[in-house]
Amino acid sequence: MLEKIKEKWPEILDFLKQELGVTEVSFKTWILPLKVESYEDDVLTLVFPGDTKMTGLRYINKKYYPLLKVAIEETMNQEIELAITLSEDSEETDDYTEDFVSQEEISLENRIKESNLDKKYTFDSFVVGSNNDIAQVTSLAAAESPGEIYNPLFIYGGVGLGKTHLIQSIGNFVLANDPDAKVLYTTSENFTNEVIDLLGNKKNKTSQEDIIEFRQKYRNVDVLLIDDIQFISNKDRTQEEIFNIYNDLFMKHKQIVFTSDRKPKDMEGIEDRLINRFEQGLTVDIHNPDYETRMAILKEKAKSLGYELDEPVLQYMANNFTSNVRELEGSLTRVISFSKIGRNEITVDFAKDVLKDLISPNQEEKITCENIIDMVAEHFNISVSDICSTKRSKEFTVPRQICMYLCRAYTDDTLESIGTLLKKDNHATVSYGYKKIKKEMANDPTIKNTIDILKKKIIPN
Ligand code: ADP
Ligand code: MG
Repeated sequence: MLEKIKEKWPEILDFLKQELGVTEVSFKTWILPLKVESYEDDVLTLVFPGDTKMTGLRYINKKYYPLLKVAIEETMNQEIELAITLSEDSEETDDYTEDFVSQEEISLENRIKESNLDKKYTFDSFVVGSNNDIAQVTSLAAAESPGEIYNPLFIYGGVGLGKTHLIQSIGNFVLANDPDAKVLYTTSENFTNEVIDLLGNKKNKTSQEDIIEFRQKYRNVDVLLIDDIQFISNKDRTQEEIFNIYNDLFMKHKQIVFTSDRKPKDMEGIEDRLINRFEQGLTVDIHNPDYETRMAILKEKAKSLGYELDEPVLQYMANNFTSNVRELEGSLTRVISFSKIGRNEITVDFAKDVLKDLISPNQEEKITCENIIDMVAEHFNISVSDICSTKRSKEFTVPRQICMYLCRAYTDDTLESIGTLLKKDNHATVSYGYKKIKKEMANDPTIKNTIDILKKKIIPN
């Protein structure tokens, strides 16, 4: 039997590659080094040679044991017990085994980063309710069979309802399940800025190669995810680039996913031919979550933070934050952090007290500096406390000046009060920030694009 297996070994390896889809790099790393050692008492022993100390044995057993067993049984046409061990002279050190496991994890982490994704957005952490079930199930199907079923997939819905979460989940799912897949996530703002940099006013500085490289980057992917596509309205060059990239990817059966705050038909300032493309596949929407879904989201979020809150507290939040999951989650984190600071027990009264500023009865969505700062912080993915601080790195000073500009332009607050919020004692600093951004908008299309987008976020429509 041993001889027979050895004879058939190349066929078994082939089966792993061809039938079971083990990729070239995994194959070389984990499978090729294995040696057929013995066949005794119906057990076939394979050995992973110990020429290095890093064994990875546990990893092979975890990930490739079932595949190897299937490949051997299919090729030999009989059931076989399998054992994978180390050769005698190798040292099995747990640390190294862990190292090997984490190697693979590190490479996934790198791919996630290269794809511009955030690993926290997964289908596992997405709560499904009647408001989003169709969007969720079609996203999952697109992730499982990229380019094959719904192409493009167009997801639309209001602010804070989980569009970014879903579109990123698609990317993370594809990366985790296909070691060779190339995924690229971008926002339409980011895309527009790239187009501006390349083709805009700096034309003479940009070489043809840069343009080719840019196009290649977007055309060499299996899955292209473009978030918040509504912001390309009235951006002709951007629309043209997207149109061409879209056509190329679509012809190659590559998956394309868009999100937007409204359905294609309702988008203004976008060429008809692009609207047609958006509608070519499947369009799905996400509505406001119903009560049950809001409760489920709160419970899931509390659990992930290591908390279990009383039902009436959760009910209080679910009843008061009805139309935006981000705010719903925000209310929960606020209550939890305040309770930590003051070591308070989390009761309904405590939650009411902590959330009272956020729950103003019969509020008209008034534009306040606080809202603007929140929005800018979120936009730049930095914290409110970093914007409202004296920190001087560019990462914070530019968003802070943008806050100065927007607060000045969209609220009646005085320079003094804007300054106080932003931790600037001298109101001349606010005035300076306002003027600086205003001037930059005239000269730098990237800044202008960012401000345009923030304006649309402040006053949608
Ligand atoms: P959008 O892109 O639609 O404005 P996001 O995807 O950024 O909204 O969602 C806002 C926040 O709410 C994120 O933290 C996201 O994880 C969370 N969220 C939204 N919907 C869900 C859901 N169904 N389950 C879990 N978390 C959700
Ligand atoms: Mg979003």
